[in-house]
Amino acid sequence: MNIREELKDRKRIVIKIGASSLTHKETGRINLHKLEVLVRELSDLHNMGKEVVLVSSGAIAVGSAALGMNGKPSELEKKQACAAIGQARLMMIYQKLFSEYNQTAAQILMTKNTMVNNLNRKNARNTFNELLKMGAIPVVNENDSVSTYEIQFGDNDTLSAVVAALIEADLLILLSDIDGLFTDDPNTNPDARFIDLVENLDDHFKDMAKGSTGSKVGTGGMATKLTAAEIATSAGADMVIANGSDFHVIHDIIGGEQVGTVFAANHKEEFYLIDYIERLL
Ligand code: GLU
Repeated sequence: MNIREELKDRKRIVIKIGASSLTHKETGRINLHKLEVLVRELSDLHNMGKEVVLVSSGAIAVGSAALGMNGKPSELEKKQACAAIGQARLMMIYQKLFSEYNQTAAQILMTKNTMVNNLNRKNARNTFNELLKMGAIPVVNENDSVSTYEIQFGDNDTLSAVVAALIEADLLILLSDIDGLFTDDPNTNPDARFIDLVENLDDHFKDMAKGSTGSKVGTGGMATKLTAAEIATSAGADMVIANGSDFHVIHDIIGGEQVGTVFAANHKEEFYLIDYIERLL
C-alpha cells in the first residue's frame, strides 16, 4: 500500500505546531482564528477515534506579546517569566476552545530531565497513557519557566519527537512555516526541488538541512526537524513536515493527500530513547 494511504490508519498521533503558526506575524499576538481551526481539526481527529497529543510552542512568544514587548526578550530570566505568563494564557485559550468541542485538554510540561531520569520518564509515560485512555488531549510544551540550558530541549521539534517515541505514537506531524523538505533552501535557490517522501534518512538528506528558519518567533530550523525525524522514525513512527499556515492541512494528511514531506518509519530493533537524546540533543 502507498504510504499516504497508510497514514489514514494511524491511531496515536502527535502534532507539533510552532509559535510562528499560532501568532500574528505583525503583532506577535495569538491568532485566534487559526487556533480555532486547529482545535476543531484536533477535536475531529479525536472524534474519528484517534488518540491525539498536541505539542504547542508559543509560551514565550505569547507572554512577551501580552507584556507589550516587541519580540522575545534575550535575557534568560525575562524569557522564563514571559513563558510563565504565556503558557498560562495559551492553556486558558486551549481549554476554552477544546471544551467548546466537548473535549478535555490536559497540560504536560517537561524538561530534558523528565526524559533522562528513569523514574520521571516512566511516570511521564504512564501519565500520557492514562490521559489517552481517559480520552483527554494532552497539550505539551517544554517547561520553559524552569528549564535552563543544561536541561532543556530548546526546541519543540525535538521535544515532539521525544514525546512520540516515549508514547510509541505511530505518526508525528510537524507543522511549521515551511512546506516540507527541499533539496536546497527554496528562499535562496529557485532550483530547489521539493521532496515528497524520505524512505531512508541518510547523510545525503541531512546535508540538505539548513540550520536556519525564516521565522522570528520559532526556534527550530530544518536541522532540528531532521533530528526529530531521526528520533521519530527510528522509534517506529512516520513523520510528516507540512506547512501550518492553514491547519486544515491536518485533515488532508490524515486523509492520505499528497501534502508535505513524509519520513517513513524505520523502526530500529535496538532503539533506546536515552541514547538518542544523549547523542543528538
Ligand atoms: N518552548 C518554547 C515556547 O513555548 C518554544 C520552543 C520552540 O519554538 O520550538 O515558547
